[in-house]
Amino acid sequence: MAVPFRRTSKTKKRMRRTHLKKEVPGVTTCSKCGATIKPHRACPKCGNYKGKQVIELDKEA
Ligand SMILES: [Zn+2]
Repeated sequence: MAVPFRRTSKTKKRMRRTHLKKEVPGVTTCSKCGATIKPHRACPKCGNYKGKQVIELDKEA
Protein backbone atom coordinates (compact mmCIF):
# COMPACT_ATOMS: atom_id res chain seq x y z
CA MET A 1 0.00 0.00 0.00
CA ALA A 2 1.33 3.40 -0.97
CA VAL A 3 2.28 5.71 1.87
CA PRO A 4 2.81 9.50 1.61
CA PHE A 5 6.51 10.31 1.37
CA ARG A 6 6.18 13.65 3.16
CA ARG A 7 3.75 15.10 5.61
CA THR A 8 1.41 17.57 3.85
CA SER A 9 2.29 21.09 5.00
CA LYS A 10 -0.28 23.34 6.66
CA THR A 11 -0.27 25.57 3.59
CA LYS A 12 -0.78 22.72 1.12
CA LYS A 13 -3.54 21.25 3.27
CA ARG A 14 -5.28 24.62 3.53
CA MET A 15 -4.87 25.28 -0.21
CA ARG A 16 -6.55 21.96 -0.98
CA ARG A 17 -9.38 22.66 1.45
CA THR A 18 -10.24 26.07 0.02
CA HIS A 19 -12.56 24.17 -2.33
CA LEU A 20 -14.22 22.28 0.52
CA LYS A 21 -16.83 24.67 1.74
CA LYS A 22 -20.33 24.36 2.97
CA GLU A 23 -22.92 24.87 0.28
CA VAL A 24 -24.91 28.03 0.55
CA PRO A 25 -28.59 27.13 1.10
CA GLY A 26 -30.86 28.13 -1.76
CA VAL A 27 -32.48 31.45 -1.04
CA THR A 28 -34.31 33.97 -3.16
CA THR A 29 -35.96 37.29 -2.52
CA CYS A 30 -39.68 37.99 -2.49
CA SER A 31 -40.77 39.82 -5.63
CA LYS A 32 -43.28 41.87 -3.64
CA CYS A 33 -41.60 42.84 -0.36
CA GLY A 34 -37.97 41.88 -1.10
CA ALA A 35 -37.57 39.67 1.97
CA THR A 36 -35.15 36.72 1.83
CA ILE A 37 -37.23 33.58 1.36
CA LYS A 38 -36.83 29.93 0.39
CA PRO A 39 -37.61 29.19 -3.27
CA HIS A 40 -40.95 27.60 -4.30
CA ARG A 41 -42.60 28.74 -1.09
CA ALA A 42 -44.98 31.54 -0.29
CA CYS A 43 -43.41 34.54 1.41
CA PRO A 44 -44.01 34.34 5.18
CA LYS A 45 -43.77 38.12 5.50
CA CYS A 46 -46.44 39.20 3.00
CA GLY A 47 -48.07 35.87 1.95
CA ASN A 48 -47.22 36.44 -1.69
CA TYR A 49 -46.41 33.70 -4.19
CA LYS A 50 -45.95 34.19 -7.96
CA GLY A 51 -47.61 37.59 -7.82
CA LYS A 52 -50.68 36.32 -5.97
CA GLN A 53 -51.79 36.65 -2.37
CA VAL A 54 -51.92 33.04 -1.18
CA ILE A 55 -51.86 33.54 2.61
CA GLU A 56 -54.11 36.00 4.37
CA LEU A 57 -52.22 37.99 6.98
CA ASP A 58 -54.30 40.14 9.31
CA LYS A 59 -51.34 41.50 11.32
CA GLU A 60 -50.20 43.31 8.19
CA ALA A 61 -53.06 45.83 8.44
ZN1 LIG B 1 -42.96 39.06 0.59
